[in-house]
Amino acid sequence: MNITSAKFVMSNSDIRKCPTDNKAEYAFIGRSNVGKSSLINMLTNHKGLAKISTKPGKTQLVNHFLINDEWYLVDLPGYGFAKVAKNTKQRFSKLIFSFIESRPNLINLFVLVDCRHEPQAKDVDFMEWLGVNGIPFSIIFTKADKLGKQKLSENIKAYKTELLNTWEEMPPYFISSASSGLGKDEILNSIDETNKT
Ligand code: GDP
Repeated sequence: MNITSAKFVMSNSDIRKCPTDNKAEYAFIGRSNVGKSSLINMLTNHKGLAKISTKPGKTQLVNHFLINDEWYLVDLPGYGFAKVAKNTKQRFSKLIFSFIESRPNLINLFVLVDCRHEPQAKDVDFMEWLGVNGIPFSIIFTKADKLGKQKLSENIKAYKTELLNTWEEMPPYFISSASSGLGKDEILNSIDETNKT
């Protein structure tokens, strides 16, 4: 799939105000600073669509972007901020969970993890929750340009080992780099395939 148009539609902190026109939704989520905005901009060929910032915790809203006038790319708030107050953190979690649980057109959730890091409880617990609740998801290992091939495959192997403690098989996963464009075709093709079925 080629993305020919990407339009910002709305930012929301109230799930009830999210679009109701029944278009397919593909959401992106991850810890703050994981490279989510950069990835969204890379996928959509749109440098300024999602805001890149060095300040963790800036995306506090659910952002809907209409892609090719056909489906929604949803930028969800990052989780696991170190620099926001606890009650704010709880509010984010509620927003995230109520979005995920209340969107029947959510086809897939892409959970982003930084490929340089070892499996972290926060991400693994979140995936566990998704599994228990039957939410379809895949993993995107971001910032692959920051690691050599050997280290990258070791880190992904460590993730597999961790997940296979609780899962029968590894969820589908992608490897991406916003700098080089790695993973773009694979991620967009997976969206294309599931959007047709
Ligand atoms: P977000 O908080 O998850 O939206 O993360 P951002 O997209 O704002 O990125 C956080 C930082 O990581 C920024 O300094 C980006 O330039 C950098 N970054 C994001 N993706 C990549 C990548 O694929 N490769 C490299 N080398 N840096 C990246």
